[in-house]
Amino acid sequence: MSDYLFINAHLLTMQGTGVGYIKNGAVAVENGRIVAVGTTAELQKTISAKETIDAKQMCIMPGLIDGHMHASYAVVRGVAQDVWNWMQAGLAPYHKYMDQPAFLAGTRTCVLEGIKAGTTLFGDYAWPMDGWGEVFANAGVRAMLTARINALPAQGMAGLKIGDLYPFDEQRGRETIDRATAFADNWHRSHDGRISVMYGPQGPDMIGLDQLMECKKLAAERGLMVHVHTAQGDREIDQMVKRYGERTPAYLQEIGYLDEQLLAVHLTEATDEETQLIAKSGAKMALCSGSIGIIDGIVPPAHVFRQMGGVVCLGSDQAAGNNCHNVWNEMKLTSLFNKIKYKDPTVMPAWEVLRMGTIEGAQAIGLGDEIGSLEVGKKADMIFIDVTEPNILPILDGPIRTLVPNLIFAATGREVVHSMIDGRFVMRDRVVLTLDERAIREEVQAEGERLSAAVAADPVHQSMKLLEAMEAGNL
Ligand SMILES: [Zn+2]
Repeated sequence: MSDYLFINAHLLTMQGTGVGYIKNGAVAVENGRIVAVGTTAELQKTISAKETIDAKQMCIMPGLIDGHMHASYAVVRGVAQDVWNWMQAGLAPYHKYMDQPAFLAGTRTCVLEGIKAGTTLFGDYAWPMDGWGEVFANAGVRAMLTARINALPAQGMAGLKIGDLYPFDEQRGRETIDRATAFADNWHRSHDGRISVMYGPQGPDMIGLDQLMECKKLAAERGLMVHVHTAQGDREIDQMVKRYGERTPAYLQEIGYLDEQLLAVHLTEATDEETQLIAKSGAKMALCSGSIGIIDGIVPPAHVFRQMGGVVCLGSDQAAGNNCHNVWNEMKLTSLFNKIKYKDPTVMPAWEVLRMGTIEGAQAIGLGDEIGSLEVGKKADMIFIDVTEPNILPILDGPIRTLVPNLIFAATGREVVHSMIDGRFVMRDRVVLTLDERAIREEVQAEGERLSAAVAADPVHQSMKLLEAMEAGNL
């Protein structure tokens, strides 16, 4: 007997080459997996379930995949947009004071925000503070966690002048690799496989060659991907050219880093030729349209990457200067930005970006066999969307079916009413069952205020570019 049978829904299965729509659809779930998908009439003949839920006026689709994020920076949401050199001139002074309580408050807030917007997989990249993995494990969400590895001095970039070559600290590199390895060995495939792990050299500009190669080897031994910020900004390219005399993609090709094992994040500064080189290698791309738009004013070359057959996931990146962890926002911005970039309204239609937020996203992070579509045998990670909200109505079925375009260009995330992960409800009727929402709201406000007070008392804050706007009374 199945645990759940959902009937009478608009199903977006994401099977095939598009969205795999089924009218009056039904899904059955048993022991955390999808055991049947089809029409309500078909499934009602064959499936008996402990609980049958009428999902009339709802769309059921796979949960959204946020493949690249720095969840903890939700505690400094909004400190680093609208400036040049956002990392050094916006985030770094706050980052310097990000201790464990602040880090965990930000991470919990991101997870709460994501669940409420339909995210079921959180691809977080962070320094593995104690308690980090537990946030995802206890929230009942699926996560792909990457522990940060770099050989930068402990204080990071705070105090460095823009354009200075960062000093490398090999000992620090050693410590971060060892900590990431311990994390991988403890957490990969834990919690019934809900938590997976990648290796994360932060960027090829932030660690020496020997340690960069060691990361790839350690990951390969464990069957893990490497998750690397790649050509992520003019700052990185400047460091690479100064240190190695070549740009990032050529360097990565030369050292044998371009292959299926790599999840290359951003590609902000990659030329079309460099993008083609990376896509052809089988490497995957994480595209953070909102973040890169806000912090760099750039549309990353995902369209070129996909035209070469490359597979792309979406990521909300960081809330210091993307300001939200919402895959609906990423899907809409990805479609819009690319239409505008190419002056072509046919580029990245609604169904393609929905694939990037679901099945293609799952494939990009190596979980395409487990999640990303409503398909028999896959994990039951699914969301339920109220399609009677005024911004979605009317739902028309012909001659043009309007559901997917209306979801992509009009949904905000608040239309998601239930979320199921691994066959268990984590949100029902917009109440998150696994988290204390009120406590998280209070905690992040208090931690944000505490961090701000520390930054205000430190002269390093005088380098922050938004101070001018504050002093002019504009912000
Ligand atoms: Zn990142």
